Amino acid sequence: ERAADSFCDIVAEHARNQGDVIAFTYGDEEISFAELDDGANRVANGLVALGVKPGDRVAFLGKNHPLYFEAFVGAARIGAVMTPVNWRLAAPEVAYILDNSQARVVFVGEGFAAMIDQVRAAVPHVELVIGIDAPEYAGTDYRTWRDGFPATPPAHKVKPEDDALQLYTSGTTGKPKGAVMTHGSILSSRDAMASGEEMRQWQEPIPGDVTLLAMPCFHISGTGTGIGTMVAGTNSIVLPEYDPTKALDLIQNFNISKIFLVPAAIQILLNHPRVNDVDFSRLKYVTYGASPIPLELMREAMRVMGCGFVQMYGMTETSGTIVALDPEDHVPEGSPRMRSVGKPLAGVEIKIIDEAGNEVPTGTVGEIATRSSKNMRGYWNNPEATAATIDAEGWLRTGDAGYLDEDGYLYIHDRVKDMIISGGENVYPAEVENALYAHPKVADVAVIGVPDAKWGEAVKACVVVKPGEELSEAELIAHARQHIAGYKCPKSVDFIPALPRNPSGKILRRELRAPYWAGKDRAVN
Ligand code: ATP
Ligand code: MG
Repeated sequence: ERAADSFCDIVAEHARNQGDVIAFTYGDEEISFAELDDGANRVANGLVALGVKPGDRVAFLGKNHPLYFEAFVGAARIGAVMTPVNWRLAAPEVAYILDNSQARVVFVGEGFAAMIDQVRAAVPHVELVIGIDAPEYAGTDYRTWRDGFPATPPAHKVKPEDDALQLYTSGTTGKPKGAVMTHGSILSSRDAMASGEEMRQWQEPIPGDVTLLAMPCFHISGTGTGIGTMVAGTNSIVLPEYDPTKALDLIQNFNISKIFLVPAAIQILLNHPRVNDVDFSRLKYVTYGASPIPLELMREAMRVMGCGFVQMYGMTETSGTIVALDPEDHVPEGSPRMRSVGKPLAGVEIKIIDEAGNEVPTGTVGEIATRSSKNMRGYWNNPEATAATIDAEGWLRTGDAGYLDEDGYLYIHDRVKDMIISGGENVYPAEVENALYAHPKVADVAVIGVPDAKWGEAVKACVVVKPGEELSEAELIAHARQHIAGYKCPKSVDFIPALPRNPSGKILRRELRAPYWAGKDRAVN
């Protein structure tokens, strides 16, 4: 039997075949697949009654909530496109995304009514705001609204090429861009696995697995996790936002089998005062990615948690993971593979190209390009950015620098934009950061290029020192000299209280660079 065309059809299948199985857990509330399916149909009919048409955008502004997934499935069933909005953004940034998406309906979570009121005048195309368990919001209540419509499946038939999800990129390198994923791109990882080749046991939850959904749904990691468990027909425990205490409690007491965490979240977990009392024995896999992870941190995580670790590399534009490093390649001592992000998933092509777009030889650093059915259709309302990113043959430029080794393992060397060119040599911030992070007094570090009359750019380290420690510029530079080539060592060090990061924990190097480049041109910015 041919697999369904859409994750929303799969939810309906689960409702028929295993309706009592729990799809989402949220505090004391459990939502079964039958309830999810029923609610989604009501939402679909409610949106039709509002005049929402296939291709229309609907948005969600709120912390993680299972009803976001219900609304997403409901919208997808009538061909509408869910657009989750980063709730950590300031009002003008939220207004930018709502305006760019032209959303007609906005679902708003607890605590965000005031934000919507603030931006509403700037987004006249928003016809209705619906509060999801948002007691302070005086307008339409989601559950009441939804229950006013029948649970009959809508007549619309979804096709694989239809838009399903519009996720904005993290805004690490500039303004967030709306990456449009189709029903086909969302399901293609499952189809690749169904073909049987290279099936990896961690890739999809198996019956009985419980996944902890701890990363935000406005990021591909959160929404992708929820889609994955809905498709697999398994339970996701949803945290409104990342909370290491709750995560540890659930790991200890709730049989969590899988969890995705960004490196910054792993670090927070390991710093938790109770981490050493927690029994991690039932946790099968920690998957991690979205930014480089310092080797020292990885070693500590493996020692403390003792489960399988899987690194993932991907981006919003590729519907999430396209390359992964299996648990077997996580050998803390001595394996160079620990520095790799792994091998492409089945059905994913990777090549390394130069500035002109030509493939470079194995082992040479260039820009990573990828082609697969997981690639987005394009950036919403942004044909120039789409054309600059995806070529006529379907290759997508990632903006990341890296190389492939002889065995097909991919190594990431930062963003092309973050690469420092000093005296004609390329310096990759992550490599320098790794060396500096190994210093026992360093809590956090980011490396940037600053203008330099002699070298073009000079390497600068921005360092957060561990509480109670003292560290001098000279001591840190001397440490670096023992580990990396002279031209890679920082010429100067700024000691700062904290690094600027975005909600996914990514270092905002452009913010660190800005004061040094004011009034000057950087070749790439
Ligand atoms: P923007 O595109 O708006 O600047 P962003 O690229 O950070 O933001 P995302 O799509 O969330 O937005 O992130 C994808 C990027 O994250 C990748 O291009 C890569 O630079 C980085 N990344 C993802 N996984 C890894 C990983 N395992 N190791 C290192 N970097 C990673
Ligand atoms: Mg990006």
